[in-house]
Amino acid sequence: MTFIRVALDVPLPTLFDYRAADATDTDIGARVVVPFGRKILPGVIVAIAHSSTLPPQRVRAALRVLRDIPPLPAEILKLLEFCSEYYQHPIGATILSALPTRLRQTRPIKNSVTSTDTIAPSSHDVSGPALSAEQRAVVEQMCAYSGRGFTPWLLHGITGSGKTEVYFHLIADVLKRGGQALLLVPEINLTPQLEARIADRFPQTCLATLHSALNESERLHNWLAAQSGQAGIVLGTRLAVFAPIPKLGLIVVDEEHDVSFRQAEGLRYSARDIALLRAKRRGIPILLGSATPSLETFRQALTGRYRRLVLSQRINAQLPRIECVDLRREPPTDGLSKTLLAALQETLRSGEQSLVFINRRGYAPVLMCRGCGWISDCRRCSAKLVLHLQEQQLRCHHCGHIEPVPAACPHCGNQDLLPVGQGTQRIEAALTRMLPEARILRIDRDSTRRKHAWRDMREQIQSRQVDILVGTQMLAKGHDFPQLTLVGVINADNALYSTDFRASERLYARLTQVAGRAGRGTRPGRVLIQTDFPSHPLYQALCRHDYDGFAKTQLAERKQAGLPPFVHQAVLRAEAPRLATALDFLARAAARGNRIADAVTLFDAVPAAMARRSGVERAHLVVESPSRRALQDFLSRWRPALENIAGRKVRWVIEVDPSEW
Ligand SMILES: [Zn+2]
Ligand SMILES: [Zn+2]
Repeated sequence: MTFIRVALDVPLPTLFDYRAADATDTDIGARVVVPFGRKILPGVIVAIAHSSTLPPQRVRAALRVLRDIPPLPAEILKLLEFCSEYYQHPIGATILSALPTRLRQTRPIKNSVTSTDTIAPSSHDVSGPALSAEQRAVVEQMCAYSGRGFTPWLLHGITGSGKTEVYFHLIADVLKRGGQALLLVPEINLTPQLEARIADRFPQTCLATLHSALNESERLHNWLAAQSGQAGIVLGTRLAVFAPIPKLGLIVVDEEHDVSFRQAEGLRYSARDIALLRAKRRGIPILLGSATPSLETFRQALTGRYRRLVLSQRINAQLPRIECVDLRREPPTDGLSKTLLAALQETLRSGEQSLVFINRRGYAPVLMCRGCGWISDCRRCSAKLVLHLQEQQLRCHHCGHIEPVPAACPHCGNQDLLPVGQGTQRIEAALTRMLPEARILRIDRDSTRRKHAWRDMREQIQSRQVDILVGTQMLAKGHDFPQLTLVGVINADNALYSTDFRASERLYARLTQVAGRAGRGTRPGRVLIQTDFPSHPLYQALCRHDYDGFAKTQLAERKQAGLPPFVHQAVLRAEAPRLATALDFLARAAARGNRIADAVTLFDAVPAAMARRSGVERAHLVVESPSRRALQDFLSRWRPALENIAGRKVRWVIEVDPSEW
């Protein structure tokens, strides 16, 4: 009798046996429709067996094996099995989550793309701008290694140094040899521009994009184009790392430091780390690109495990001058210092564009009563309600709660309510008042909600209908506005003293990105950072454009404090209606863990930085080890015990290599 072992999207860490008389080894990786309880579920065949641990009469028969498209290749199945074990996520949920929605249904696919399995080797040299000496050297070094198996490269290039051009040359090299290339980017927002550039440069190559903004049939179509080998280039966000790409010859991870490569729900994986593993198992080169590499990656480059390539110069432009504005000497009005205001005026007069960066949307982060000190707390979260003046609402940015702005203090009836702090709306209003002749455009998640809004705004900026942009980090990444010569940074200081040890690393990366928007055209750029701490080492390094100095200092501090990347961590997160319930579960989990801990340290359970969210109390406990293997061994033994001690009121999850606490 033939049995199939099936992965199903259910929260159990196991495969399920079914009878399938007609199944053969070629069906491994195929989708299958099976009965499960009273439901009919789609699954994926992971193995074929001739016996089952269950008595044969208890094994149900599969309804049908779907052979409409080629099965998931063994390479991807193995990668997903690894993810399931490493990230402590149920095998079935892991495998199914990697498939496009349309393949997670019980209906077969009609009119699927015919797989041709052949790509015409591209016969065009790469057109486009001539490479700089630095770029050429980088491309030549990497090409010299082609065909030599797994080689991880770090392309450490400053903003505006032309990393994308390097990617294109390497991709062309792979295409020429009949291979496929996978290019991973952090943001959906960036894909349309990049897509257009790729289509322009590789007009004869089929390009498949994969990201969550595609509709079901687009995503399926593109996934099949990757799987069939038709797509020479696969461009996508983190989920594309699991796409079957039979002739994969190169992986590029752009902005490798970006937290968007980390999935925060379900299978909590790092697409960058999985890309590295995939390249290693396949024996191909992988290129990680960044102006501010993650400290993990930077350390690998320092120790020589990754080869580091440097682009230290901008193409046809200089790096902007970065200065701090000391707010202790120059108290701001409505968030704007005299120095910044004067610089904005000067830029306006010379007909150039400015960007005022503030990473907080809304009008003011909190509303306060002058009479009794009441502040606008969210009832469901340990967070403040943000004042959105234009919409006349108080909004929670964490749970989505919305209420009208009260006419008077709900506590004492005082009508003197004070907006405290700045958000994008308030800066926009202040600039409109102070610089009435300037054309100001606010760009944040609120102003870009409408479909195509962001595209239209970009056109406005590019056609010079805008003088001053006010925006959040949406504006920081990857955009090229040649007329932009001034960047002002407001309210960056709070990240300096965060409890999260990665906050500095992230702030440095973000400010480098924002500063990198200035002076990308022919005129030099200027960046003004308003701060109470102008002598802080982070700002000092930023002003010197000294990432290496900053990163080495950070690494030394992390080493001394025993933090990643010098140790490996996992965090057990728990949620419950009451904080005591969550903490109690974690305490019992720690006690159980300490009994089996070997070369692993368990820390005390603590409430999360944001203890309550959407009415749920949250706490966590950190587990760490200098050895990744020891941590993995521990987690695999600890996890089953947790299943037993968690009551029904506690929801918990283990996150491995967490990027945030
Ligand atoms: Zn009051
Ligand atoms: Zn809330």
